[in-house]
Amino acid sequence: QEEEKKAEKGMRLGKYELGRTLGEGNFGKVKFAKDTVSGHSFAVKIIDKSRIADLNFSLQIKREIRTLKMLKHPHIVRLHEVLASKTKINMVMELVTGGELFDRIVSNGKLTETDGRKMFQQLIDGISYCHSKGVFHRDLKLENVLLDAKGHIKITDFGLSALPQHFRDDGLLHTTCGSPNYVAPEVLANRGYDGAASDIWSCGVILYVILTGCLPFDDRNLAVLYQKICKGDPPIPRWLSPGARTMIKRMLDPNPVTRITVVGIKASEWFKLEYIPSIPDD
Ligand code: ADP
Ligand code: MG
Repeated sequence: QEEEKKAEKGMRLGKYELGRTLGEGNFGKVKFAKDTVSGHSFAVKIIDKSRIADLNFSLQIKREIRTLKMLKHPHIVRLHEVLASKTKINMVMELVTGGELFDRIVSNGKLTETDGRKMFQQLIDGISYCHSKGVFHRDLKLENVLLDAKGHIKITDFGLSALPQHFRDDGLLHTTCGSPNYVAPEVLANRGYDGAASDIWSCGVILYVILTGCLPFDDRNLAVLYQKICKGDPPIPRWLSPGARTMIKRMLDPNPVTRITVVGIKASEWFKLEYIPSIPDD
């Protein structure tokens, strides 16, 4: 009880001393936290339990916790521990200090092809690791890719992720989710989709944005946006190298069956340029 009062004042959470707000989401806040015993810094996602009365929301949080506990990879944000009190669920996570990739692109514009490829390689390493664990992210976008102090990426926000038990008898996923600009045509089509190919599509949108500074598909009118996505074939600037252009084209193939896979991406000459594979932590 006493502990909770202190936590509410934004002072303390068990052995953690809480600090400034790092970010806000639709669940609550993410705050800086210092472990007063070890001196290590963390980020705590503080979720108000009153919001969990919403069943969908509660499922999302449970799913995010269950998923993050399974994943130990240098390019995926690490969940350190979960502390529950009467009124809150606190997810103590690895602290990532470089902000969102989204803000980096908005304030500094597109990346050079070399820098963009480096981030793309890290993104694909992280996502292929998730897929190897049977986890499909389903909400990949620039806002959910954080940067650490060295400019390396950390994938976050697994609230919409799918686990093996979410696949129906037909072997496909059936929940339409994700953000409009990043969603794959087969997810929109509502006939079931395989989580791997649709994550690759979203990574293709991310690659397009980091190399060009623009979204491949955009429109204020959602119906028009969806038409553009289903048609595929976005304009690809000629100043990109042939390798980069081919990669974007192959990832944004509207047909999930012929779309390039993680294996195909990793085997391509463009991807392999200056590639240093990242080793999973487990
Ligand atoms: P939501 O599910 O509401 O989108 P996120 O998990 O994406 O919530 O977190 C919201 C914001 O908080 C992020 O966009 C980011 O700015 C910040 N944030 C989240 N996790 C961390 C972290 N581990 N380290 C630093 N900042 C973080
Ligand atoms: Mg988010």
